[in-house]
Amino acid sequence: MQKYMTLLKEHQIKITPQRLAIIELMDRYGHISVRDIYEKIKATFPSLSLATVYKNINAMMDSDFIKELKIVGQDNKYELAKERHSHLICQKCGMIEDVHIDTQGLQKSIPVESGFRVAETSVQFFGTCKQCAS
Ligand SMILES: [Zn+2]
Ligand SMILES: [Zn+2]
Repeated sequence: MQKYMTLLKEHQIKITPQRLAIIELMDRYGHISVRDIYEKIKATFPSLSLATVYKNINAMMDSDFIKELKIVGQDNKYELAKERHSHLICQKCGMIEDVHIDTQGLQKSIPVESGFRVAETSVQFFGTCKQCAS
């Protein structure tokens, strides 16, 4: 937890027990929805509302501390900002896994004449995870 406190300070985000609890869940689950976060911490913070969880997440997203992951057919997921990566998504159980692939080549295949400037690449692979396949 210490490393997150340091990181929060570096990002100039106010440290609160709620925020640390949210970060801890993201660290443990990798990718988690706001509703799941809320369900898991409401016992510890009974006064906390779903709206407050959203507010905390938005504040940490503004500082690039947390990233939002939009997946068709699922609630938006949130994860701690880390090295650029793509995602493997299981269509059976909803599992989301990070995968490191080279997306530079993809970007290069965008036609030069389109004049489009890529700011960010997000690649998602849909399929069946190891567990569901066996
Ligand atoms: Zn699966
Ligand atoms: Zn991820």
